[in-house]
Amino acid sequence: MQNTTAGGYLPASFLDWEGHVAAVIFTSGCNFKCPWCHNYDLVFSKTDPIKIATILNDIERRRSFLDGVVISGGEPTICPSLIPLMRELKSMGLPVKLDTNGSFPNVLESIFDEKLVDFVAMDVKAPLNDEDLEIVTGVSISSNLLKKSINLIKKYAPAYEFRTTYLPELLSKEKLFQIREELDDDDHWVVQCFKPVNCISKEYLEYKEVRAEVVKQLLPDIKIRG
Ligand code: SF4
Repeated sequence: MQNTTAGGYLPASFLDWEGHVAAVIFTSGCNFKCPWCHNYDLVFSKTDPIKIATILNDIERRRSFLDGVVISGGEPTICPSLIPLMRELKSMGLPVKLDTNGSFPNVLESIFDEKLVDFVAMDVKAPLNDEDLEIVTGVSISSNLLKKSINLIKKYAPAYEFRTTYLPELLSKEKLFQIREELDDDDHWVVQCFKPVNCISKEYLEYKEVRAEVVKQLLPDIKIRG
């Protein structure tokens, strides 16, 4: 861990793990290129690297103020240092939340085998077929990998949520309903409202922000994150 680096670090956040004051470690790089993604600098590894050892020292120093640590990205499961980092955090007695796009079920399997995670948040960006996924993620990805991750999370995660960002120009409401049916897990599904901020594809800055009330009308029983 001595020389490994992260793409970013937030010493304390109230927003990244509901009900928790959490430090957030951002890994660098992502295998997806979602056009509406707000994390351009992380996805394309443009941030200044921070040594993981420095971050861990800071977390240790403020341990008594923290309820846990969130590992986010970019996409954490592409990083070879993810599992050693999670082991380290667990050895410090810290609850860990992992944000992932779910494209590496083998990594999730290892994490569950070693009981390294307390909460998993997986993005389910489109209906689970290769064609729709390619449109929304900007890359070719096998839907089977995502299906495998969903099943693993449902079975082994101590707590979890699946998140879908709603932007009608990219994901129609019919497709949103299709995701709901495919997940078949309303209690763990959260729909996030698109905001035109710092998007990877500049044309998405022209789209209107999606209002939570609009989504609430479409999906009255589902948790909406504005
Ligand atoms: S929104 Fe897409 S491109 Fe951005 S970090 Fe998440 S998976 Fe990667």
